[in-house]
Amino acid sequence: MAYVYDDQNVFAKILRGEIPNRTVLETEHSLAFHDIAPQAPVHVLVIPKGHYVCYDHFALDASDAEILDFTRAVGKICKMLGVQADAAGDGCRLIANAGVHGVQEVPHLHVHILGGRMLGRMLA
Ligand code: AMP
Repeated sequence: MAYVYDDQNVFAKILRGEIPNRTVLETEHSLAFHDIAPQAPVHVLVIPKGHYVCYDHFALDASDAEILDFTRAVGKICKMLGVQADAAGDGCRLIANAGVHGVQEVPHLHVHILGGRMLGRMLA
């Protein structure tokens, strides 16, 4: 079954410039901005500019260039914001909710980068 992309979702509107965002990083294929309702001192969303509903859609259908750009963008933002998990940073959590069981609110792939404090232990 094909993935169905709703181009009226809020992140599509951000990408079209119809609603504002607090941009952290923009690359050729990706955009990162602060979450409007942050759950931690660092809460950034990274989205591909292409129309992908969720991570599996992106991983299966995006070009190698898009995937590389997006993956590197996540890493760059972690370093920029000091939440990388090396000797100089305290680490973070990456989350990509998908679909109904994943309780995905916005149907455009986004990876949450959460950090800046000790996070709770959780997998579900
Ligand atoms: P999810 O449940 O994974 O789909 O998360 C969607 C996220 O998008 C939530 O953390 C929201 O706070 C965030 N969000 C919704 N609208 C906006 C917006 N206009 N700008 C930034 N973040 C938003």
